[in-house]
Amino acid sequence: MDCIFCKIVAGDIPSNKVYEDDKILAFRDLNPEAPEHVLIIPKKHITSLNHVTPEDHALLGHIQVKVREIAEFLGVSEKGYRLVANTGDEGGQTVHHLHYHLLGGRSMKWPPG
Ligand code: 5GP
Ligand code: ZN
Repeated sequence: MDCIFCKIVAGDIPSNKVYEDDKILAFRDLNPEAPEHVLIIPKKHITSLNHVTPEDHALLGHIQVKVREIAEFLGVSEKGYRLVANTGDEGGQTVHHLHYHLLGGRSMKWPPG
């Protein structure tokens, strides 16, 4: 499959990893929008949140539970951070493999642009 993030999972494209287990991978965004900007992805290809099925229940729960650990590793848990899943065209999704942006290290604005 012609998917950048599947290639990162396979190791065909290098990435700056911050967390990995058998189900998920977290790596630094190529174009960071904050001092700490990590992408958390399932290793399994899921196109977007619009493509999640009930069988992904445990996998997505696993990501949510690991966010805490990754945020602690990045040193942003105490001050706070933002977790974002851009979905579809109007959501601003450009890579069509489900990913959560973990952004921290500066004050976030609301509402997002
Ligand atoms: P989206 O716009 O789909 O929510 O986010 C895609 C993100 O993937 C962008 O922030 C972009 O900088 C990042 N990105 C795109 N290609 C690569 C890559 O090859 N390596 C890494 N580390 N990040 C990438
Ligand atoms: Zn993929």
